[in-house]
Amino acid sequence: MDLAVLEETLAARGEPAYRTRQVWEWAARGAAGFEEMTNLPAALRAALGEAVPFSTLSRTAEARSKDGTVKALFSTHDGHPLETVLMTYRDGRRSLCISSQSGCPLTCTFCATGQMRFHRNLTASEILDQALYFRRLGPISHAVFMGMGEPMMNLDAVLEAARRLPDVGITPRRTTISTVGWLPGLTRFVSEVEEPIRLAISLHAPDDALRSMLMPVNLRYPLADVLAECERRFELRHQKVFVEYVMLRGVNDRVEQAAQLARLLDRKIYKVNLIPYNPTGAYEGSSRDAIAAFKNVLDRARLPATVRLTRGRDIQAACGQLAAERAVEVTPC
Ligand code: SAH
Repeated sequence: MDLAVLEETLAARGEPAYRTRQVWEWAARGAAGFEEMTNLPAALRAALGEAVPFSTLSRTAEARSKDGTVKALFSTHDGHPLETVLMTYRDGRRSLCISSQSGCPLTCTFCATGQMRFHRNLTASEILDQALYFRRLGPISHAVFMGMGEPMMNLDAVLEAARRLPDVGITPRRTTISTVGWLPGLTRFVSEVEEPIRLAISLHAPDDALRSMLMPVNLRYPLADVLAECERRFELRHQKVFVEYVMLRGVNDRVEQAAQLARLLDRKIYKVNLIPYNPTGAYEGSSRDAIAAFKNVLDRARLPATVRLTRGRDIQAACGQLAAERAVEVTPC
């Protein structure tokens, strides 16, 4: 819901200021329409139904994976595509993977979104409406800004949305913002954000030469500068920084590269997530054995590391597979 439009509509009708909050609280708790908001006068509910679209997004397709993952494809009012994924786990976690942009201007070579056209930044309302859509289907415990786009290029909208997520039931500690290390946004995030929102950094290589090959953005913002900001975050907030490392066969998965990574990262500050590569055409994923051997080196260096579970592969909903233009054709409702 466009909260600015809501506020203007209420103000124009001479409604008291607390009405915006009332409407928001209903939406945040999963209401499906104004008619459910029983503490609002019936006439007002009807008027809002006429004047304020309940969502800034329309859902154009949805797909369900065998493992319970749900992917929704949305369109903004001006026709730009984006995708959102809900992952459910045996321990009861229900984690939402949120998009911050339609498409992405960065061209990480292994990422499907990086290969599609960049449309635009999403507004805070468009980011929140992804969460509200899924909240209507059931409770959500975690949110990760790991969908389409680079959140640190759209930091104001991302933070405005993230700061409302607690009303949806997702605490700051259970909210993670993932970044390539886009320094203008990252520096601001570290300096300004006092909430314990988690930071994850997409590293994928232990040195600048390889990282620049995989992620051209590294030419602009090299490793040392990115890691310096992560370390500043740790000093200020005493919260571990997650490192994402997608495992590409013969590219970044050798045990020597694991040793290099262990030397690069302070084990008090970082926790490494090894991500099995989800095929998007460009590379081959590392074998299970190679991932185990890589992890073993990190374990021996006592650098905390886990291997991420892959979800939603069968519906192209796994990490880095979100390329909405294609999804329109392959996953109709
Ligand atoms: N732009 C942000 C957030 C979106 S990408 C970032 O890069 O962090 C979310 C995560 O998915 C990143 O760690 C990204 O590197 C990873 N990823 C992208 N493509 C992938 C793929 N094909 N397989 C596995 N992980 C991938």
